[in-house]
Amino acid sequence: MTQPADADARRMVKPVICYPNDTLPKPDLALYALARDTAQKVEELLVPARDAACFRVPAGQFFRITSVDGPQVGDLNLWHANNLSERFYSGKSRALHGTHLTTGERMWSSFPYLRPMATLTTDTLGWYGIDPYGGSVHDVIGTRCDPYTGNLLAGTHYHHCCHSNLTRALADELGVSLAEAEPHVHDVLNVFMCTGFTRDTGQYFMKASPVRPGDYLEFFAEVDLLGALSACPGGDCSTEHSSDTAACYPLLVEVFEPAPGALGDWSGPAVNGYDRSHGK
Ligand SMILES: [Zn+2]
Repeated sequence: MTQPADADARRMVKPVICYPNDTLPKPDLALYALARDTAQKVEELLVPARDAACFRVPAGQFFRITSVDGPQVGDLNLWHANNLSERFYSGKSRALHGTHLTTGERMWSSFPYLRPMATLTTDTLGWYGIDPYGGSVHDVIGTRCDPYTGNLLAGTHYHHCCHSNLTRALADELGVSLAEAEPHVHDVLNVFMCTGFTRDTGQYFMKASPVRPGDYLEFFAEVDLLGALSACPGGDCSTEHSSDTAACYPLLVEVFEPAPGALGDWSGPAVNGYDRSHGK
């Protein structure tokens, strides 16, 4: 295919940021930090390797995901605890914050709600930044490993992909069938996963996570949350996923409740204010 005469000039047009975030409502991180200082642990669970578990976090509490035993990536789903149709919207969170999330950024919910569900308050891997390959940690660019793609590419039926792990955990939590639970599972926050896009082909890549035991990601729950976390069969995702090949480790989830009054007059975010008439 021949290029137009001005091909280079067209390529050199400067990009503009799609969603400048200077008008994005900002979390009061100083208030959250004060409240966190008063908080006591109220819940703890260990997500087994190559499996998933659900947990609940009331609005105004904190939850922490910690690497234990060995480097391990986690796939996180969030729903509003009282309305599963409001769930984490990976694509819009990416559009608002970029390809990877860190401290001060938020997990936004689906339409028509589009409000912060959780705010990242501490990220011990915040030092990593963007590496020379364009990789970074905690991505919202991947989906979740799943048996359908494995079947498409390799004809396999692997049952401990994050998608299946999350489906089983949600079905058990809600007491519903797998068929009822599965449509609620959605694209994840890839906790601790180190990913990017190759510059030459634009392909999604992963590499060994820099996470080490003791590293954690902590969140403030902006609304009442039902969470599900899968300890990915990819382990640290240095080689492969969707198999039992990689070394895998559990992930620890802990929930912390601030002292009464520690959040002052904080109240959770309202649902999005768009009037929903859609021009009709
Ligand atoms: Zn996975």
